[in-house]
Amino acid sequence: MRDVRRDRDFLDDDAILEYLNNFGSALVAAYPGARGETGADFYFFAVRDPMLNAFALPGGFIAVHSALVIAAQNESELASVLSHEIGHVTQRHIARMIGQQKQDALMPLAALILAALASKAGPDAAVGVFMGGQGLAIQRQLNFSRDAEREADRVGFQIMDAAGFDTSGMVAFFQRMQSATKVYSDLTPPWLMSHPLSSERITDIRARIREAPFRQRVDGLEFHLVRARARVLQDESAQGRIDAAAAFEAQLKLQSRQQQAAGHYGLALLALRKAELATAGERLAKARATMKPTTGAVFSTGQSTSDGAAMFASLSLDIKLAPGQPATLGSQTLKEAEQAYQQFPLSRGIARQYAQAMIASGMLEQAVAFLREEVRLYREEPKLYDLLAKTYAAQGKQTLQHIALAESYVLSGAVPAAVDQLGIARKASDASFYDLALIDARERELSERVREEKKEKKEK
Ligand SMILES: [Zn+2]
Repeated sequence: MRDVRRDRDFLDDDAILEYLNNFGSALVAAYPGARGETGADFYFFAVRDPMLNAFALPGGFIAVHSALVIAAQNESELASVLSHEIGHVTQRHIARMIGQQKQDALMPLAALILAALASKAGPDAAVGVFMGGQGLAIQRQLNFSRDAEREADRVGFQIMDAAGFDTSGMVAFFQRMQSATKVYSDLTPPWLMSHPLSSERITDIRARIREAPFRQRVDGLEFHLVRARARVLQDESAQGRIDAAAAFEAQLKLQSRQQQAAGHYGLALLALRKAELATAGERLAKARATMKPTTGAVFSTGQSTSDGAAMFASLSLDIKLAPGQPATLGSQTLKEAEQAYQQFPLSRGIARQYAQAMIASGMLEQAVAFLREEVRLYREEPKLYDLLAKTYAAQGKQTLQHIALAESYVLSGAVPAAVDQLGIARKASDASFYDLALIDARERELSERVREEKKEKKEK
């Protein structure tokens, strides 16, 4: 997973990751057996990719392509694909499939993951992976048996039902994926290639839907905001931005207030990415105004983020923290960040924005104290160490800066680079006796780890 995180197409976006994990965890929590015999933990993430796909990796990692998030018209449709993938994890299909391989034919895990990520570069690459010489072998290994697919459909259906989603979204979405590709290209979406929509499969799902009660479900605004983010971040080329802007303008003309708000929000994010900060602020204000209840009530506070309040707050901070804003904005931004952090203490993105606001307004001591507490609580976040290193650099503390950078590299899976940073830290003029002892101990640990990894590779 550390390798996947380093991939340039891993969609490293706090709002999208937080949404997918809240959404996915709710699905898992609704269905008691979802964690399976092994009590698997789940982690959901998005991959920047114009092909409609989603896949499960061993260990409860579930990936969804940005295009699939955009293609889903409501949360039930998104839930239908994610629940199916959760079903594969729950039933241990991946583990069983790997277990069934003869040792000499066993594909390294990394190759499986890379194969799954390889369709990223557009249709040509997808053809290469799915039809090329070696690609065929990879594809065969990624395919589950028909029984496994039926089982994943069955479990997926139960998960959707238990979580209160409209299960009829399942067939509708699968069929829409299929028909969309008939119009736009000759390529079947990868998800449908590994999950062929046989008439048998449709009949099975339809039979289950008939037994389920009809449900109308109101989607959270956050879903639409996340789709807007995915649309902007999926393709940041000039043409990609033009297409995204056109899609958002079209959304503004729709009847639904959520759609309109998402259109403004998307245009705000586009403007921010183009460094048009004033426009970004105006668009965000319009998005918020669109959703403001006419009764004069204010947004509900607390942990309910489906009203989009956390994402609005976070985008507002991104705009205010962007390079090019006047320094005079500092104290106002800091106050806003502090409020957002108090209102949404579980948002990792907002926690880091709070730290950034402290750094920007020169509160370096406070930023260090805050970040040291954060790295103690959240041990797997390289970005926290990056911010810590930045703060130490601003304080002129070179040794501590490079120690923090070393920890960031460790968490990103770049252990040799971490050892290099420790070397720089040792030579810095402000290294204390205590720092040196710490550096030595850490360097011994990491060198040992590098040796072990080399040994493992040789044994393979
Ligand atoms: Zn499947």
